[in-house]
Amino acid sequence: MLKLDDDTLVLAATDLTNHLACPHLIQQRLAIARGERAKPPPADDPHADLIRSRGEEHERNVLAQLTANQDGYVDFSGNDGLHTRKALLRAAAEAAEAMRAGGPVIYQAPLFNGRWQGRADFLRRVATPSNLGAWSYEVLDTKLARDAKPEYVHQLSVYSELLALVQGREPEFAHLLLGDGSTLTIELRRYAALHRYVVNQLETIVDAPRCHTYPEPVAHCKVCALAAECDARRRADDHLSLVAGARRDHRERLIEIGLPTVRALADASKSKDARPLRPERFQLLHHQAALQVSRATLVSRFTVTLSQPLRPDMRCCRRRAQGTCSSTLKATRMSAMAASNTCGGGASQTGPTTVRGHTTGMRRRPPLCGSSTL
Ligand code: SF4
Repeated sequence: MLKLDDDTLVLAATDLTNHLACPHLIQQRLAIARGERAKPPPADDPHADLIRSRGEEHERNVLAQLTANQDGYVDFSGNDGLHTRKALLRAAAEAAEAMRAGGPVIYQAPLFNGRWQGRADFLRRVATPSNLGAWSYEVLDTKLARDAKPEYVHQLSVYSELLALVQGREPEFAHLLLGDGSTLTIELRRYAALHRYVVNQLETIVDAPRCHTYPEPVAHCKVCALAAECDARRRADDHLSLVAGARRDHRERLIEIGLPTVRALADASKSKDARPLRPERFQLLHHQAALQVSRATLVSRFTVTLSQPLRPDMRCCRRRAQGTCSSTLKATRMSAMAASNTCGGGASQTGPTTVRGHTTGMRRRPPLCGSSTL
């Protein structure tokens, strides 16, 4: 989604993907495009970087295969920074000119109809007549996945509709070049009605005033740039989705009967009537919420930071203050041994800071994550 210099919003296939994935996500993307909220900070995700670089490699391999027996190809891949209506129109006109010239393969062709834009990985010439001449083009898109997903079909449909405007003929097929080397051909007509429906839905949302949505967890959260923000919101709200096994329909019913948070569910009577939720299901969720709440309470009770002052009225703490506490002396000796490497490696297994706890009587271990919280 892009706001142009003339204050209009231009949509792309990614917006359809976001719309299908999560209503909250599309509202947030709209707010970002309209300048009503900041973009999320870029995620430091080496896994995503790896997937991106593998995707680019796959695209380069496909380009080499497609152009192996051709006299070159038309390359629009350097045509970035299309943030104004004029730039988009100019780039689309250049791509249309390349199609009229009849090049066998056009790489990263920019397409634009005033409201939707797209950049197909490849346009391949086929021997079907069109307004261009005795030929027309079909869209090919590379994907690392091994199977087609609904959003891929919508993406191909967006590109093919934009292409149809240029060549005056709707392409019959579009193709996915998958990560396992196979090609999946999509018969676009079969999905046309569904695609139109989804496009209309999204355009209606974009034209309407901003509406309130809640970040209900969905499968897309795993790869969403807003994941940290939405997770923090759910935790702050003590949201019922934090209860393991609480499905959305369960949560809706729990809210209806006045149990909108994990704490409320944990504190509810075990025999509360939650119909149509079955009593066994309600008891299971109630038990799970109670477990989670009591675990959180236990963790906070026994959480002691290294810098927290110990109670001066406790005998061992007085000894510690006087420098006569045997546990502290032992820990200090072990630290010194580890530092001078005279312990024969044994102390390094558990760490020299493993000492018997003063306040809890539990064995403390050095934090694994670098935090000072035990
Ligand atoms: S993290 Fe999940 S809930 Fe939040 S916007 Fe992304 S997909 Fe939607």
